[in-house]
Amino acid sequence: MKYEITHTCGCTETIELYGPGSKREYIIKQEESCECLDCFEARHHLPELEGSEKQIAWARDIRRGMVSDSNADKAIAITSAKAWIDGRDRGFDSIYKQATMTDDERAAVARKKEEAAARACALLLGC
Ligand SMILES: [Zn+2]
Repeated sequence: MKYEITHTCGCTETIELYGPGSKREYIIKQEESCECLDCFEARHHLPELEGSEKQIAWARDIRRGMVSDSNADKAIAITSAKAWIDGRDRGFDSIYKQATMTDDERAAVARKKEEAAARACALLLGC
């Protein structure tokens, strides 16, 4: 079913919702209690994301849920839709850290993982 929603910024949006009525009402209330995605991103000067159309749509929602006044200046550095999606369960700090790692730091993490894998192999299999 389609619903016309008015956000706090005054922008209207038509969204399509499925599922139980209580869940739909909850989503409508949430959407009406915040500004629209475009206004949110403009207010925080967030950049466009890179990725497929589907990834970008999903990542923008994730980003809206994680970005606030206190971390918006950092969020600007994360332009990969995939980074937001992959990190959605780890939280903002982890996404930011990974997105801003230098190549050296990335290599060190990969080395550590390899070493840990080798240790596990030696322990378990004696190889
Ligand atoms: Zn708006």
